[in-house]
Amino acid sequence: MDIDFSLFDSKPNIDEILLPLPDGSFRSLDVLRLDAIHPTISGNKWYKLKYNLVQAQSERAKQIVSFGGAYSNHLHALAYAGFLFDFKTVGILRGSIQDNPSLQDCLAWGMELIPMSREAYRTKHEPVVLEALKIKHRDSYIIPEGGDNELGRKGCQEILSMEDVRKYDTVACAIGTATTFRGLLQSYSGRLLGFSALKNGTYLEEPIRKVQTGNWKIYHDYHFGGFAKKNEQLLDFMLRFRNQNGIELDFIYNAKMFYGLAQEIFQGRLVDEKNILAIHSGGLQGNRSLNTNF
Ligand SMILES: *Cc1c(COP(=O)(O)O)cnc(C)c1O
Repeated sequence: MDIDFSLFDSKPNIDEILLPLPDGSFRSLDVLRLDAIHPTISGNKWYKLKYNLVQAQSERAKQIVSFGGAYSNHLHALAYAGFLFDFKTVGILRGSIQDNPSLQDCLAWGMELIPMSREAYRTKHEPVVLEALKIKHRDSYIIPEGGDNELGRKGCQEILSMEDVRKYDTVACAIGTATTFRGLLQSYSGRLLGFSALKNGTYLEEPIRKVQTGNWKIYHDYHFGGFAKKNEQLLDFMLRFRNQNGIELDFIYNAKMFYGLAQEIFQGRLVDEKNILAIHSGGLQGNRSLNTNF
């Protein structure tokens, strides 16, 4: 494992876009383009991996093991990092191994895929399961699903530059495990808005309440029926967004975040938030599950 960390140094651009509102009008909005930091590893997954890779390297781990679903952006990014920096990766897959473009990439980049039943997968982070994995895959470094650990949060503290922190009174991002959100909270004292991609994501607020007092809010009403669920309304919104701005959104996280932001702005509920920066967290490879021309 020989990691060229200069690849992590590229500063993401900020683009001024026009956010489609429900009445057909638009509102200008600044967007931090994490989707454009690297041609293959896009978005927040890069930040969550960074210090985990540093740690794995310092432990002289022979391989990195992690977890994810059939279109996991996290496994996809990890597999590519393994290919790029020449280390072995193992992906524990929820359910069976599917023949899809995302997992084909993972295999092509040398990741070993191991299917795990959905029941067993639910216990994946329990100490006995992790111990068994460590015995089976000797000298491995294990990253939790979605890069959701202290080092993942540490990497996400680097998403906003000092200049961004000074300039924007509000930052908005999508939420899955809330690793990114919690990392941002540690580096930003303005108002932080999170849009959960999960149906029952309120449990995510507990650990945040315990350690953070900051100025934050998580919206739980913009999941469109649950994780990775979608409808025509969401797909229409993605099209309007792309036609207007030439920027694609992934339907699992960013489309729901921008949609929610548009609703909140349109309903007049974000009037004190004068200067908003929305984070495009990437994840476009997952759109290949749509089987359309997105
Ligand atoms: C994983 C992911 C998220 C969610 O990040 P968390 O740190 O898990 O909350 C948001 N957007 C994209 C594109 C992702 O892949």
